[in-house]
Amino acid sequence: MRDIRIASRVAGIDLSGIRKLFDAGGPDAINLGIGQPDFDTPDHIKEAAVRAIREGHTGYTPNAGIPELRNAIVEKLRRENDLSFGPEQILVTAGGSEALHLVMQALVEPGDRVLVPDPGFVSYAPLARIASGRVEGVPCDETLHIDVERAKEMMDGARLFVLNSPSNPTGMVESEESIRAIVEYAMDASVTVVSDEVYEHLVYDRPHFNAARYGDDVITINAASKTYAMTGWRIGFLAADERYVNQCLKVHQYCQACATSIAQYAAVAAYSGDQSAVAVMREEYRARRDLLYDGLISLGYEFPKPEGAFYMFVPLGQDRIEEAIGKGVLVVPGASFGENAMGYARMSYAASRETLRAAVERLATIG
Ligand code: PLP
Repeated sequence: MRDIRIASRVAGIDLSGIRKLFDAGGPDAINLGIGQPDFDTPDHIKEAAVRAIREGHTGYTPNAGIPELRNAIVEKLRRENDLSFGPEQILVTAGGSEALHLVMQALVEPGDRVLVPDPGFVSYAPLARIASGRVEGVPCDETLHIDVERAKEMMDGARLFVLNSPSNPTGMVESEESIRAIVEYAMDASVTVVSDEVYEHLVYDRPHFNAARYGDDVITINAASKTYAMTGWRIGFLAADERYVNQCLKVHQYCQACATSIAQYAAVAAYSGDQSAVAVMREEYRARRDLLYDGLISLGYEFPKPEGAFYMFVPLGQDRIEEAIGKGVLVVPGASFGENAMGYARMSYAASRETLRAAVERLATIG
């Protein structure tokens, strides 16, 4: 058979190991690996999508997004985050994932240093590598929060600093002091901060702070995915200096054209309609977090209580991680999230209380 040639920047990266793990689970597996809400999208959002189809909104939209959605996002940023953006500073994307890709493509030159949290979301490092960047992992401290001093030491000469609070996979929420310190340091060092805030509404003990409050060279990335249980609709956005938006728009235009028209109309309803479902989901996640955390503590595990998102980062130890997976409790090994979290496992509590109770019972039989 003929050899095929693949660009090394792509051949050198792997598919996320998470999916492989789940495919391996048997029929009675308890899946704590899922990185998406287990709620259904609220009805008024679905209705808006059906209306969009009926009204024939099925063609291409303006590349940057329909004006109604860009305006709804501007209003959301004002209302919820006290941030002042104009619609020309908003680019609607196919989920937060695409926004991350656009930023890396538009800003990273070959060999540029891209600082990403380690442990961190699985996409950051591969996206930076696809952009021919040089990835360096910023560690967290023993409380699983970002190590601010280490972050500052690494900052000089970097091109991008990716910040993610609330964090996937640690579930930690950074304090205002940490976010301010990192952003101010980055601004002094001419490092652009990319702030991934897709879990902003899933905070249980302390408020979320927007990085864009503390500096002007900050690109904010967000999505409807987690807030409104809309992962499959593929709507996200970036909010930034218009000069960044205009460059990211080029990549977006040529690879994506526009986010799905129907999903954009649904997202208008999400961002500007009734917000009560967001609090209902948050409170359910909070109860599940408490249930799972208390269960693990009762089994003798000791680790800081996660403050946000729907993840728990648990120091199970390598042997117990394998044993847990062997017994059908599907958790994601820390190695999936970087080099600094060996022996940890990410457990998602975007699963029913019954599932979480069953998981704790099964985990009681290991180790
Ligand atoms: N950022 C983080 C931290 C995530 O955990 C995820 C999804 O898991 C994303 C971005 C991507 O979200 P989307 O589904 O909107 O592309």
